[in-house]
Amino acid sequence: MPQTDARAQAPLDVLHRVFGYGEFRGDQAAIIDQLVAGGDAVVLMPTGGGKSLTYQIPSLIRPGTGVVISPLIALMQDQVDALRAVGVRAEFLNSTQSFDERRQVERDFLAGALDLLYVAPEGLTTPRVQELLKQGEIALFAIDEAHCVSQWGHDFRPDYLWLSNLAKLWPAVPRIALTATATEATHRELTERLGLQNARHFVASFDRPNIQYRIAPKDEVRQQLVAFIREQQAASVDAAGVPVPAAGIVYALSRATVEKTAEFLRSKGIDAMPYHAGLDASVRAQTQSRFLREDGVVIVATIAFGMGIDKPDVRFVAHVDLPKSVEGYYQETGRAGRDGQASVAWLAYGLADVVQQRQLIDKSPGDRAFKQRMGQHLDAMLALCETVSCRRVNLLSYFGQSSEPCGNCDTCLAPPETFDGTVPAQKLLSTVVRLKRERNQQFGAGHLIDILMGKVTPRVEQNGHQRLATWGIGNELNQAQWRGVVRQLLATGLLAVSDDGYGTLVITDASTAVLRGERAVELRRDVHESAGRAAARAP
Ligand code: ADP
Ligand code: ZN
Repeated sequence: MPQTDARAQAPLDVLHRVFGYGEFRGDQAAIIDQLVAGGDAVVLMPTGGGKSLTYQIPSLIRPGTGVVISPLIALMQDQVDALRAVGVRAEFLNSTQSFDERRQVERDFLAGALDLLYVAPEGLTTPRVQELLKQGEIALFAIDEAHCVSQWGHDFRPDYLWLSNLAKLWPAVPRIALTATATEATHRELTERLGLQNARHFVASFDRPNIQYRIAPKDEVRQQLVAFIREQQAASVDAAGVPVPAAGIVYALSRATVEKTAEFLRSKGIDAMPYHAGLDASVRAQTQSRFLREDGVVIVATIAFGMGIDKPDVRFVAHVDLPKSVEGYYQETGRAGRDGQASVAWLAYGLADVVQQRQLIDKSPGDRAFKQRMGQHLDAMLALCETVSCRRVNLLSYFGQSSEPCGNCDTCLAPPETFDGTVPAQKLLSTVVRLKRERNQQFGAGHLIDILMGKVTPRVEQNGHQRLATWGIGNELNQAQWRGVVRQLLATGLLAVSDDGYGTLVITDASTAVLRGERAVELRRDVHESAGRAAARAP
């Protein structure tokens, strides 16, 4: 559609004639009006909410080019292609282009022949791009993934800090900042850093009611995963009720786990394919296109996969490793069920995840403040995993939104039992204290549990640990249950992983009150999927 037509039109006409949609959703119309009138906007809207149109349509209506700042270079091509397909004159400028390609885009921009121009944040910080923008006419600035400007967020990008200059350099150009993940603190910080004090704020509900959240204790994670996927695929029907193989994404932290998990799923007859940054670009492109075009493909991926992949009928997202933050978890699980149909987010999580993540933070090259921040992100994620009340209430409250128990998460559907874990916690903590008195010894959770259960392992014998006062005093729980106790104490800060690099468990300031009997410990009784409910009720 020629640009002049769009300019003469109301937003709703542009929606109909350019994008082919019947009506606006949620706050879209109000956000568009705000920008068309020259005002600024801050938009918090979950993935799939329809953020793109809120700056694309004003860019078509206002004179000049809409400049979109997006950190996802890999997606620019797709976004531009999609816009061109509906007749919008869109281009991008980024480091993947040749000199000639950039020259052509620059010329088009200066000639006023572009409706939208996508640029990477690092590009904007260069004098060449800044000079270019000064010479052309700009309809608006759209700052996508605006939480990246927040140093306390989970995804900070230093180049975003430069964006604070936009308000000074182009005081008359309206700006819109958009994000799908922002806590209240991040919301405040991005508003301030981007100079959006006079903006209107549009905060949509972060609830995704069609996604069922489930978090299971990890036993045999690959077996659990197979059982979960089979259950999903058996239940899967399309909007008309016709059975259709379910597509899903399985997230793992490392490339090795991705490869191994995909192979295992294939050996069980599941159409699974690995996806990570170490694979050839052509292989990745092929995998992605199979996922988009065929039914029932399961992608096993590192978090590199999924950004901007617009597949509406992803029926499940599974995590076999613990995400590093609630924001990350929310973003990844949000890729399920964009079509509004029932979908499941499943996470298996265990003691080793907590130990591993705490060690990763310790070993990370960041400064103290950085590690503290990462620790807080992890703590929030652990609180979500260990909660005995509604997962959704916990998740939404993390983003500053209150809600009622949802009836569509594992804890609502089968409320977990709790038990007074004070005595087991004391037994465990006092074993930790006793071991700590021995010099230069590193003992992890497995050894602690062996001692409590009175096992005579080579390690126990070598160290004479049968003689510890706590040896064999913990037979009221089985191994899996003890691991659950250790995990929960770690998650709630009653135990810590020392920074010795060996995963040695140490007590914390908070543990002292438990050891002295001044503080009770309420624990969640894990329900193990593989063992079945009956077995899990033992203690
Ligand atoms: P977000 O950026 O918030 O994740 P998108 O802008 O990618 O969401 O929109 C998600 C999907 O919803 C896209 O396929 C988009 O075309 C579609 N969409 C957005 N707004 C509308 C609307 N008003 N009517 C119908 N479909 C819409
Ligand atoms: Zn719930």
